[in-house]
Amino acid sequence: MRPVLLPASLEELWPLMRDHPGAAFMAGGSDLLVRLRQGLVDPPAIIGLEGIAELGLVHDEAPGWLFLGAGASHTALLEHSLVQRRLPLLAQALAVLGSPLVRNQGTLGGNLGTASPAGDTLSPLYALEAQVELRSATGSRRLAIADFILGPGRTALQAGEIIYGAWVPLAQDWSLAHFEKVGLRQALAIAVVSLAALISLDDGGVVREARLALGSVGPTVVRPRQAEQALLGRPLDAASLKAAARLVRQEVSPIDDPRASAHYRRQVAGNLLLRLARPAD
Ligand SMILES: Cc1cc2nc3c(=O)[nH]c(=O)nc-3n(C[C@H](O)[C@H](O)[C@H](O)COP(=O)(O)OP(=O)(O)OC[C@H]3O[C@@H](n4cnc5c(N)ncnc54)[C@H](O)[C@@H]3O)c2cc1C
Repeated sequence: MRPVLLPASLEELWPLMRDHPGAAFMAGGSDLLVRLRQGLVDPPAIIGLEGIAELGLVHDEAPGWLFLGAGASHTALLEHSLVQRRLPLLAQALAVLGSPLVRNQGTLGGNLGTASPAGDTLSPLYALEAQVELRSATGSRRLAIADFILGPGRTALQAGEIIYGAWVPLAQDWSLAHFEKVGLRQALAIAVVSLAALISLDDGGVVREARLALGSVGPTVVRPRQAEQALLGRPLDAASLKAAARLVRQEVSPIDDPRASAHYRRQVAGNLLLRLARPAD
């Protein structure tokens, strides 16, 4: 029988991790339970994290940063006033993640831990240039999300560490925050392509900063830097977005899979950019 351990605090967690090497963490279980049932993983023990209240914290106590605890469910984040007010980009992604049931069960830490290129919280966190905090019995470290996610299902998490949460810089008020995912159906769809975009415009409507992050078009979320650069200094109109869309299609590296062909993904990745056009005043 595989033991299931339920620590109620981090102090209880560390010795359990030491005594059960190779144990799998379970937050909401919406990914892990599927993989257990499919026989894709067979850990010697399971450590449930849901009893550790500290992991569910959301706060803005550190000036300039919003902290999102790994154990916060997608619903809790979506309903949190700080997320609604300060991170509309993430809120848009959370609103279309799975179904109400999946959002109630699934957590931010689980989305990060699964490290799927289709994970809906990832492209917003890349665009926001979030950092992931990892904790162990002996300390803590923070990594840029792009350094934390190494590939599909692969992260920089090391033995003895847990994902503690994500730190999101609040440096800017963006003129435009837009998340969109294209799936095979309207609801409960895994992204075939997703785009998270943050745009800052000056008073004349000219792009001062552009951050684009695309999901499901490569082994990890892609920031198409040339497309971002191409938007700078131009109005956010059809002509500039079309030019940037062409660059996006060159910068992504999607694969064919049962949900969509690489060609389709490449086209849609560019097309999603066209939605950012602002109507002329
Ligand atoms: C029907 C269905 C629909 C779905 N739709 C979507 C969707 O639209 N978009 C989307 O992005 N995802 C979707 N998912 C996937 C899943 O719900 C999300 O990835 C969710 O965020 C996982 O969170 P969890 O807490 O349930 O993770 P778990 O299953 O508990 O864990 C997932 C992985 O992360 C690890 N982990 C969890 N917490 C920590 C931690 N604190 N420290 C270290 N490792 C940790 C676990 O060990 C495991 O490897 C769907 C899943 C299902 C079953």
